[in-house]
Amino acid sequence: MTDNSPLRVAIVGAGPSGFYAAGQLLAVPDPEFAVDLYDRLPTPYGLVRSGVAPDHPKIKSVTRAYDKTTRHERFRFFGHVDLGVDINRRQLLERYHVVLYTIGTSIDKRLGIPGEDLRGSHAATEFVAWYNGHPDHCGLEIDLQAKQAVVVGAGNVALDVARMLALAPAELACTDTADHAIEVLGSSGIEEITVLARRGPLQAAFTNPELLEMGELERGDVEIVGGELDELSAVALQEADKTRRRNVEILQEYAARPSTGKPITVRFRFLASPVELLGDERGHVRAVRVENNEIVARDDGSLAARGTGRLDEIPAQLVFRSIGYTGQPVDDIPFDARRGLICNDAGRVTDETGAHQIGEYVSGWIKRGPSGVIGTNKKDAQDTVTKILKDAAAGRLNEPVADDIDAMIAAHAEHAVTWEGWQAIDAIETAAGGASDPVRPRIKLTEWDALREAARGAAAGRSVR
Ligand code: NAP
Repeated sequence: MTDNSPLRVAIVGAGPSGFYAAGQLLAVPDPEFAVDLYDRLPTPYGLVRSGVAPDHPKIKSVTRAYDKTTRHERFRFFGHVDLGVDINRRQLLERYHVVLYTIGTSIDKRLGIPGEDLRGSHAATEFVAWYNGHPDHCGLEIDLQAKQAVVVGAGNVALDVARMLALAPAELACTDTADHAIEVLGSSGIEEITVLARRGPLQAAFTNPELLEMGELERGDVEIVGGELDELSAVALQEADKTRRRNVEILQEYAARPSTGKPITVRFRFLASPVELLGDERGHVRAVRVENNEIVARDDGSLAARGTGRLDEIPAQLVFRSIGYTGQPVDDIPFDARRGLICNDAGRVTDETGAHQIGEYVSGWIKRGPSGVIGTNKKDAQDTVTKILKDAAAGRLNEPVADDIDAMIAAHAEHAVTWEGWQAIDAIETAAGGASDPVRPRIKLTEWDALREAARGAAAGRSVR
């Protein structure tokens, strides 16, 4: 292409990684890029909307920075367009110089133990999506008449789940938790929540502010089981990073606290792995059988959990597995099933043999795996954008054969929601939140039809440029 038109970029996935990459590419003066940001949902922001806990509104305010990007004249949003369903990889490569996948890792890792599919056993990912009003998950049935819950995993998602189960109705009432979840969580009968960690306090993946919040619950006392450091961890503590050392301090302080008689006990149980979920005669989970672990050193010096053969049971009518996310293959994009990621070499998509796929890039969790906080994706996007710029300078971008993007959308995704469509959804949600008592940031539309209808309200101002 020898004309001076901007290089066309399709970014697939409108979460933090997609927005950071869009902003960074639009800021490049030469060559100029025009960015079309696609998402399968009619709403933008990915996990900021459907993953970040509703009682963490400050974290969600990062969307203000993303909104600045949308005001750029070379930016467009096409929501409600599903790659691999409405449009495909080949169609994008025919029309764009760069196709960047920022689709995240959307499904849960499974425990792989008997009883995992009993009723009352859920993926944390689904529960999180449910309380955040994700339209694919609004029908999830969570039985909060349960008295005892177990959350498997010692990461921040496990803490989000445990905290959401413990929040008082008044604490939820002023958040953007989906209405269906406020109703169910508000009438919860939960008395005990066990956060189950297979290793010890030093190896927990929590971050400090999130762990501190657990000690400030209006309705919950914290209790620690198995929190003493084993000999290997006590040595490793000296070399551990600040976050892990502080986690140990916080947990030690929790262990020394007396119960204050609050209605809910949040118990951190260390050094135990679930080996089976036990069911009752109705096929509903009734307990988690766990094997107690000890810490052992691997050959590389890292500390792992090893089962001791000692088993016991934790009564639980509700179980959430929260042991990390994994990606799903989309269309025929090369996928590393073992790692659950798109095959890539530091951001350049490769095939299974490692050969670069010209014009295709990846960023965020689907590039590196599900780790880090939202801001981690800014640097990650920058690394991929640097590769794109290098390839552009070397004349190694994709050579599109067509530029009829509008016609592609009209033919294959005429239901696409533009930025104006999202703004119409946003206006309805925020107006409803402002009118509620107490005031809430928004009341989310949680059904596909309601989202589509709200977006259609913007049809007058809508254009596919
Ligand atoms: P994570 O931080 O990777 O934690 C996963 C936990 O699952 C680890 O404790 C891990 O233990 C455990 N685990 C893995 N396989 C297991 C198994 N088979 N049996 C028992 N336990 C197992 O993942 P996450 O909690 O899903 O969070 C993902 C990312 O999002 C993290 O970077 C997190 O910090 C971030 N996040 C941040 C916030 C926030 O900033 N407020 C909120 C939510 C999420 P091992 O260490 O022993 O493998």
